[in-house]
Amino acid sequence: MNRKEFLTLAAALPFTGSVMNLHGLKNLADDIAKTERMPLLFVGHGNPMNAIEDNKFSNSWKDFGKTLPKPTAILSVSAHWLTRGTRVTAMAKPRTIHDFGGFPEKLFAQQYPAPGAPELAKETQALVTKPHIILDDDWGFDHGTWSVLIQMFPKADIPVFQLSIDYNQSMQYHYNIAQQLQVLREKGVLIIGSGNIVHNLQAVTFNSNKPYDWALEFDANISKWIESGNHQAILDFQKLGTLAKSAHPTNDHFLPLMYVLGFQNKKDTPTFFNNDFDMSSVSMRSVIYQ
Ligand code: ZN
Repeated sequence: MNRKEFLTLAAALPFTGSVMNLHGLKNLADDIAKTERMPLLFVGHGNPMNAIEDNKFSNSWKDFGKTLPKPTAILSVSAHWLTRGTRVTAMAKPRTIHDFGGFPEKLFAQQYPAPGAPELAKETQALVTKPHIILDDDWGFDHGTWSVLIQMFPKADIPVFQLSIDYNQSMQYHYNIAQQLQVLREKGVLIIGSGNIVHNLQAVTFNSNKPYDWALEFDANISKWIESGNHQAILDFQKLGTLAKSAHPTNDHFLPLMYVLGFQNKKDTPTFFNNDFDMSSVSMRSVIYQ
């Protein structure tokens, strides 16, 4: 039962006071409002310049920021924080990390001064029984996180924390961590996996966005499995052989999707946005589950 259904039902109840007084009813309504799940996002972040450019991708991020319910906090799993062991940022004031080179000064001047979420970091640590999550005071926001959020939530007034990706682990390992954290969505935390469904920087082109055939084929396979909820096929994407190797010479930008799948609730349905390619070999396809 969602909030709307509850309120409709509550309005229709004969109000005797013997069943539940007004105060109790209000508390129940508040509890249900709190337990509504926050939508879940996978964002194709692509070029860091999307942080400061007005283009079709960044414009849809802006639109999302205006239409999503305001989260209590944001947990980002970014392709750009790869670690040994799994870490969660636990500092009160995360720094903005400019983890790229060869871009204009204006991009290096950007800051995303959102507060951290130390209490939620501790809660995240407590929720995951296996593996042990390490509280981190060193990282901050890498561009996989801030290049999107600076467009989506430009006020930077929502606490943000990041979960790292242990790069040596299996697809299932990442999926399992997210499954143990599903309750965060019920607490109003917006989960964002930030990577790309196809990401091959060796194959990028600068004079055409026309996608390669292999890029289209891989993107279509993953989309089909996202739509049908076939998580196992996505976890086993390496069975696609050379197609998988072409789409992801390294897996870093695909791994955030494993977390998003693990966070998916049975009642969620996926909707795609930014279904397009940039520089021929970077799929910007993004997904909202709600
Ligand atoms: Zn990236």
